[in-house]
Amino acid sequence: MAPTRILSPMAFERLPFDPETYLTDVRMFEQEAFGAVYLIDDERKAIIETGTSWDAPKILEAVNAFGLRPEDIDALVVSHIHLDHAGGAGFLLEEMPRANVYVHERGFKHLVDPSKLVESAHQALNADEADLFGTMRPIRSDRLVAVKDQDRLDLGTHSLVFLDSPGHAPHELTILDERNRCVYTGDAAGLYFPGDEILMPIAPAPSFDLEKNLETFRRLLSVKPRALLFSHYGPHRKPKEAIEAMMVAYPSWARIVEERLASAGEEGVLRQLYDMSCRAAKRFPRDFLERRIRVSIKGLAAYHERMEHAGPGR
Ligand SMILES: [Zn+2]
Repeated sequence: MAPTRILSPMAFERLPFDPETYLTDVRMFEQEAFGAVYLIDDERKAIIETGTSWDAPKILEAVNAFGLRPEDIDALVVSHIHLDHAGGAGFLLEEMPRANVYVHERGFKHLVDPSKLVESAHQALNADEADLFGTMRPIRSDRLVAVKDQDRLDLGTHSLVFLDSPGHAPHELTILDERNRCVYTGDAAGLYFPGDEILMPIAPAPSFDLEKNLETFRRLLSVKPRALLFSHYGPHRKPKEAIEAMMVAYPSWARIVEERLASAGEEGVLRQLYDMSCRAAKRFPRDFLERRIRVSIKGLAAYHERMEHAGPGR
């Protein structure tokens, strides 16, 4: 039997980039170092990413342990509207009377009425996984701020610039903090598994778009970030190397799915992608990493199918 892990209480820990930026591990999907939620403790207080609905109480616990009251929080920023990024937002808002939620303009209506979003996410998942991804609570439109490219959120000494970053999803944002030059990447730059130092694509159905994601990578490079702050998970201190690795991995994963899925099947492709990306895994369980890879196999297959039907010129 596996030893019982004693989990420390939720707490924000300071990141080394400035005195105001903090990170907490919400242990998303019961995995440590997978769900990162950030706090910027400036004149105005912002939380970046809200996890799943299961993570909302953990975020509140971390806010309280930090010495802030939930009513001190001014802004909740979600990188995109997938359940593991925006699922907690509606639940947190009920406890945070002054906060507004900042979301990509293409995601706005789905946070007002999340029923379709929740339904389609649950359709794509088996029962266990659907449970882990949780649910969403509708958000009143007067508490939502629709964000477009280059919009800013001024927190005092920190100023956040929102960058339209499609590819992973059409409603994906990355967020540049001009004070420390770090970029919150959401899922736009793939997944980072710290400790094992694994970088892997995340290309979910139904709307993953390879060309757009590659364009997003070029844009992220041009910003010359000091660090990438991944939602899954944490800071990566060599942004150029990480993005360049992703610029190779994404097309190569796409090619493998295109060329081998029919002959090798999902299991064969899974083994190949796992061996390519995850051989160094020690901290992260194989099964957990494989689940993430399966998401991308399905998403890349859907992408190729869409491209075939779109024909030349799309
Ligand atoms: Zn996502």
